[in-house]
Amino acid sequence: MRPSLLDPLFAPVTTLPGVGPKLGKLLDKLLGDETRPARVIDLLFRMPTGAIDRRPSASIADAPIGDVATFNAQVTEHRPAPPTKAKAPYRIIVEDETGDVTLVFFHADVRHLLQTLPIGAYRLISGKLELWDGMRQMAHPDRILDPKFAATLPAIEPVYGLTEGISARVMTRISAAAAEKCPDLAEWQDPSFLAKSGFPPFFEAMQALHHPPDLKAIEGDTIARRRVAYDELLASQIALALVRRQQKKQAGRATAGDGALRRRIEGALPFTLTEGQRQALNDIHDDMEKPERMLRLLQGDVGSGKTVVALMAMAAAAEAGRQSVLMAPTEILARQHAERLTPLAEAAGLKLALLTGREKGPGRARVLEGLANGEIAIAVGTHALFQEGVAFRDLALAIVDEQHRFGVHQRLLLGSKGEAVDILVMTATPIPRTLSLTWFGDMDISVLAEKPAGRKPIATKAISLDRYDEVVGAVGRAVEAGAQVYWVCPLVQESDTLDVAAAQERFDALREFFGDRVGLLHGQMPGRDKDAAMSAFVAGQTRILISTTVIEVGVDVPNASVMVIEHAERFGLAQLHQLRGRIGRGSTASTCLLLYKGPLGPVAEARLTIMRETEDGFRIAEEDLRLRGEGEVLGTKQSGSPDWQIAQLETDGDLLAAARDDARLLIERDPHLEGPRGEAVRTLLYLFERDVAIRLLRAG
Ligand code: ADP
Ligand code: MG
Repeated sequence: MRPSLLDPLFAPVTTLPGVGPKLGKLLDKLLGDETRPARVIDLLFRMPTGAIDRRPSASIADAPIGDVATFNAQVTEHRPAPPTKAKAPYRIIVEDETGDVTLVFFHADVRHLLQTLPIGAYRLISGKLELWDGMRQMAHPDRILDPKFAATLPAIEPVYGLTEGISARVMTRISAAAAEKCPDLAEWQDPSFLAKSGFPPFFEAMQALHHPPDLKAIEGDTIARRRVAYDELLASQIALALVRRQQKKQAGRATAGDGALRRRIEGALPFTLTEGQRQALNDIHDDMEKPERMLRLLQGDVGSGKTVVALMAMAAAAEAGRQSVLMAPTEILARQHAERLTPLAEAAGLKLALLTGREKGPGRARVLEGLANGEIAIAVGTHALFQEGVAFRDLALAIVDEQHRFGVHQRLLLGSKGEAVDILVMTATPIPRTLSLTWFGDMDISVLAEKPAGRKPIATKAISLDRYDEVVGAVGRAVEAGAQVYWVCPLVQESDTLDVAAAQERFDALREFFGDRVGLLHGQMPGRDKDAAMSAFVAGQTRILISTTVIEVGVDVPNASVMVIEHAERFGLAQLHQLRGRIGRGSTASTCLLLYKGPLGPVAEARLTIMRETEDGFRIAEEDLRLRGEGEVLGTKQSGSPDWQIAQLETDGDLLAAARDDARLLIERDPHLEGPRGEAVRTLLYLFERDVAIRLLRAG
């Protein structure tokens, strides 16, 4: 149960003074979601974007011009608009012994002005002060107060981002009210870390952010915000550590095979395994044989041969009489895996089935039955594998291919299956350390460092689109010589429809030259047409496959040896590398043509140069990182951001490793969070809504 101390924070915003149903509705829209209204904590965790200094100047002469000024003055004159000029503003003169200011009101509510600014009254006035024709002027002051109430004007006023329908003033007021509801909580941070970092206590940090005593407390990237960001990182790392611990412990089942099926599959392979593949398989088998749950990342550049490692691991599970799934991020890839792996599985007498959203009717029912009664040893598919209604007799191993396309959510889904499933995640993206921490907490890692022997380097050239005709000629010669060609069409915008239009157009143009040797593949085609296009290309019926980036992930047609990427300047480095990784898989020499439209900006030029210089995925990832900053490397949009409200990878990434280490140490020392710090940490987990992890504590 959530500590009752936190209840005021999780109460609806309407519990705050001055927040009625109308404002509550607006806040719900801004901060709530379908399942719940806006809560006090949502206001607390909405960080200010800046601050206004409303400390009064000593006199009008001292008040800063061109900035927000606050001063005391006496009202001396009202100047209504002349009757002939109805649209002219209403003016009020205020002054002190050092000078005067004209307050300007358009569309004035005169009665209201006579009340708030009667002649002779003293007022505290705050707003943007400007010079107009050499005269001090202020249009529509932000604040006009009777000096009696001067204390109610906060000296420093935090400003928040856009808030539809809610004025800045109201936002500031209710955020301060939210900060007032914040209880003083027992410290969950390690005292020596706190001392070293100079972080204020959580309570003080909240006051500094939303109710700042001075400008220093809020300017720039304040220490208060960093403190709260670190709290959030710690909460998420502790939750990850608990999940991992739980996953590892829960298994209690060793999956140990005798190697017989693996030997039969190896015998059926047209190649021998590389040293790296053997080593990775050893790592995996060691994990599987232990009565703990495996949580391993298999990282290997494009073309390094991860799929066969997956198959061998699944065969090992089958030797123990247990089942496995291989989950691919796209339908196309799932089908390709199934086609590739079926003959090998059959060589070992194993039944492999495909399950995606498209398997329907009796076919689907048969697969579901086979999975439930254990007849099917290996299931290959998309996330449809984890839908409700899919049950296994005895699932031992789940393999996720090309993980960077999956979000945190899917990963949790896997874990929450509740079965003692070993998990292997395969990715071609070398994941920078900070990011792997973010997504996986702490995973074991195997790396396929070398590529299979006999691969020829890919000749990569950058060619201006002006030379399109020459390129078509070269493609024609390659096709005559027996090669197969991928032709990738540009990412026009973040829009599928436009991509498709571009691909369709190129398809039509190239058909003029090559007739029905040209195929087309894009994401908006009906599934059956996609299959047909892909299999025609695999079978060599079509020689040129025009496609959008749907082929980016995983597709494997060894005979394809030419890759044309149109408008290469629009792609990111990682994507170019992935795309190019589709060729260079067979024994013939391969060519990659990067067609660009000049003039190139410096970043695009750097990308193309790097692509020409190297095929090394790790180097490319590093350069990518350098060119565009860490946060984007995995394409946060696709993979789902790590679910932080306050912390940001760009600014707070440096805190991540400390949070991870601290979380690990804490869980080692106090695995059930029972000590005094453990108690405080539970509160932290509730505060950042990572309390699912607390349930794991109870279960374990
Ligand atoms: P990725 O790691 O990108 O998923 P794949 O598993 O698709 O790579 O393998 C790429 C190609 O290399 C496939 O055609 C596969 O059959 C082949 N391959 C895998 N392992 C070896 C090996 N040890 N020797 C030669 N070819 C291999
Ligand atoms: Mg692959």
